Amino acid sequence: MKTFLLEIVTPERVTFKDQVEFLAAPSYEGELGVLPGHTPLLSELKTGLLRFKKEGEQETVAISGGFLQIHPDHIVVLAETAELAEEIDAERARQAAERAKSQLASAGNGPDLAVAEAALRRALIRLRATERIQRKPRP
Ligand code: ATP
Repeated sequence: MKTFLLEIVTPERVTFKDQVEFLAAPSYEGELGVLPGHTPLLSELKTGLLRFKKEGEQETVAISGGFLQIHPDHIVVLAETAELAEEIDAERARQAAERAKSQLASAGNGPDLAVAEAALRRALIRLRATERIQRKPRP
């Protein structure tokens, strides 16, 4: 099976670097699917779920905004934060969501509103990523 190198990088670390068969990334125009041999491209990504297939297994990554660069032989995802679903602390995300909801309730219309909305979006995406693991069929 044909593969390409996928690198998922944040300012803090390299979250993932390996050969994969398929990638689906959350672009503003909808989910962007990438197979080996895709045309070079630069696309902005929103907070959402990124999926890839490695050795036939699907993996899910929660990212909070960034960029996707498609090069002829490799793909780079530069994200503000990125966690593999397995790395996510669901309880922490639940608490972050609760905090963001109470901030939303008291934020008014100022800049705090956008900050709380972004925090809530990140937390809900992290929770969705953890739900994907729970739904994975067991071998
Ligand atoms: P919190 O309020 O729980 O810190 P946050 O949305 O403000 O959440 P971020 O600023 O997006 O957190 O991320 C800070 C760092 O913590 C990043 O390295 C990110 O990957 C990591 N991180 C955030 N939430 C979680 C989580 N629920 N599980 C694992 N890592 C997390």
